[in-house]
Amino acid sequence: MHIIEIYKSLQGESSFAGLPCVFVRLAGCNLRCAWCDSEYTFSGGQKMSALEILAEVQRLSPTGGLVEVTGGEPMLQERELVPFLHQLIAAGYEVLMETSGERPLELVPSEVRKIVDVKCPGSGEHLRFRPENLATLTARDEVKFVLASREDYEYARDFIVRHGLESSPAGLIFSPAFRKGAIGSRSTENCLLDPRDLADWMLADNINARLGLQIHKYIWEPQLKGV
Ligand code: SF4
Repeated sequence: MHIIEIYKSLQGESSFAGLPCVFVRLAGCNLRCAWCDSEYTFSGGQKMSALEILAEVQRLSPTGGLVEVTGGEPMLQERELVPFLHQLIAAGYEVLMETSGERPLELVPSEVRKIVDVKCPGSGEHLRFRPENLATLTARDEVKFVLASREDYEYARDFIVRHGLESSPAGLIFSPAFRKGAIGSRSTENCLLDPRDLADWMLADNINARLGLQIHKYIWEPQLKGV
């Protein structure tokens, strides 16, 4: 697999936010979201075997715990990735995988907790989602909407209704998009959508979703990589 980085930090998003986690970041993405903060993953990466990656995960977290496979878009390397996911599970890790849901997810092991990042219009990539992936969701999974505007919020709200996600076992997350290239202060001023506005809208519409902030961007400076 082509790997950008493997490091240990705190999980910044999802219902696992705040927990120690080893991140395995794969190279390559076939989307180009307007607010992407991971453009350094689009090309390059070091070629590593599954055994080499697993050894590094075990060095960083020898007693098990959380591992997040992310990118880029991990499913672009599906052929090597799926067996590796099985290896991580067999080694006793709780595995999260962040994906845009543009590639088929049927072969992802059921033990993996998928965090499916459904793109909204502000990303410019909202037409790329593969709706068939919604049928793969279980109570272990989460659907995340990263929102840059009121238009994005309404898109996410309507998407939930249109696809019956209120009754889906998967958790729902609404998260304000972070300003691309944000530097300096660890502040909500770097959000493209004010979390307070988002909270007001969610309460007014009685949305049964979690408001998620990318907590790593408030603990460390937003431009820092490997945290
Ligand atoms: S899917 Fe993720 S890595 Fe790819 S362009 Fe969008 S935000 Fe960036």
